[in-house]
Amino acid sequence: MMMTSGGSEGGLDAQWTRVAGLLRSEIGETAYQSWLKPITVREARNGSVTLAVPTRFMRDWLMAHYVDRLRDLWGSEDPRVQAIDVVVQPERSTRPPAGGGNGGQRPALAGKAAARPAAIREPGVPDAERDTLSAPLDPRFTFDRFVVGKPNEFAYAAAQRVGEAGAVPFNPLFLYSGVGLGKTHLMHAIAWKVRERDPSRTVVYLSAEKFMYRFVRALREQNTVDFKDQFRSVDVLMIDDVQFISGKESTQEEFFHTFNALVDQGRSIVISADKSPSDLQGMEERLKSRLSCGLVADIHPTTYELRLGILQSKAEQLQVEVPRKVMEFLAHRITANVRELEGALNRVVAHAQLVGRDITLESTQEVLHDLLRSNDRRVTIEDIQKRVAQHFNIRLSDMHSARRARSVARPRQVAMYLAKQLTTRSLPEIGRKFGGRDHTTVMHAVRKVDELREHDATFAEDVELLRRMLEG
Ligand code: ADP
Ligand code: MG
Repeated sequence: MMMTSGGSEGGLDAQWTRVAGLLRSEIGETAYQSWLKPITVREARNGSVTLAVPTRFMRDWLMAHYVDRLRDLWGSEDPRVQAIDVVVQPERSTRPPAGGGNGGQRPALAGKAAARPAAIREPGVPDAERDTLSAPLDPRFTFDRFVVGKPNEFAYAAAQRVGEAGAVPFNPLFLYSGVGLGKTHLMHAIAWKVRERDPSRTVVYLSAEKFMYRFVRALREQNTVDFKDQFRSVDVLMIDDVQFISGKESTQEEFFHTFNALVDQGRSIVISADKSPSDLQGMEERLKSRLSCGLVADIHPTTYELRLGILQSKAEQLQVEVPRKVMEFLAHRITANVRELEGALNRVVAHAQLVGRDITLESTQEVLHDLLRSNDRRVTIEDIQKRVAQHFNIRLSDMHSARRARSVARPRQVAMYLAKQLTTRSLPEIGRKFGGRDHTTVMHAVRKVDELREHDATFAEDVELLRRMLEG
């Protein structure tokens, strides 16, 4: 079956315009400009539409992030379309093909303008053009998808200032934190924002590793003049994970000069690292002091509230219903960093969709078995008392007190029960930890909780939740 071919693409172009329009409203303007606008429609045959993009990187990105959605959307435009293929069609010039985004009226190779030196900046040049210098930006890493809480509010506010400022508010902005806490996310968000506000400004984002790689290549190819020109002509330069060039002297040297040249010209610089400037080992003193002369902002480890907020936001983005108990459980148990938390949620969701069942506490625990175990530590009676007191909203001291009111006695019994279940302590030992109670009191508590669990489903679920949180 041949639907259309190179010669008569009227229908195809119209379809593409509609499909691109739909996806545009789903992914937003910035992502649209970056990823969809540069696409040219080549042909449709045998149920497959072929799209062309200027770089391999763009193709890979489209394949990874948008192709499924494009296929679905196109399939509802034209049911014969069952597959989308993306090919690379390099441009000979640095200019984008005119009208590349509105249906590909002309072939991608039509642009004939002579190559320009990269130092000359062209307003409105799509991101693909800058691939040679800037690493790609993740469309998901925007400010509105960044959940703000106590641990990151300062870094977030500083990043926003840089993204929105016409003039440079502080130079450089130095962000640091442990892994997976949002540095890269914030840097991409700055880049998106700057580009959105003024597409003519050149934003270059890349890892320190890439910076070094390019520098070394320039040295090898005796091309350092171009290298310098390229980097010194950007408006906003962002170097991620700068700790990578620790101990790499000539790269540091080059970076130092680039840095100074940009600061002198009043351009913005954003740097990230895993430590504060003064704690960076193997970094030249003068570079350290340069790095710390702007604004230094660190992102602290996440809190329970922030983790919960992030989970809620991610579940919304994934458009899945995740029970509150499951989110609470994850926020309690996956504490290392946001990346791991996100990964855990994705696994749970993917599993549920695969087996076609709802997400439950049980399935969550099953799916994350290995992860939870590696996060495990030995549970102590103190942990149990703390967690149970928190859960029932009573004072920790009530675990030891003589008060017999049901509102404190019941939680205390639950804690004793869990202590028996989750630790290897004997009944008398447990009794001692609960304000010197007798072992028969503990025994009674264990029986009582067992009995209640059988008759009261909500109570049973509470206990189960606590147990899973504590033990996994
Ligand atoms: P880092 O660069 O500090 O190692 P990343 O920026 O790569 O960390 O963040 C890891 C993952 O966690 C990313 O997917 C990012 O989107 C997500 N993330 C981190 N912090 C937040 C936050 N506050 N809100 C939403 N997502 C976050
Ligand atoms: Mg990072």
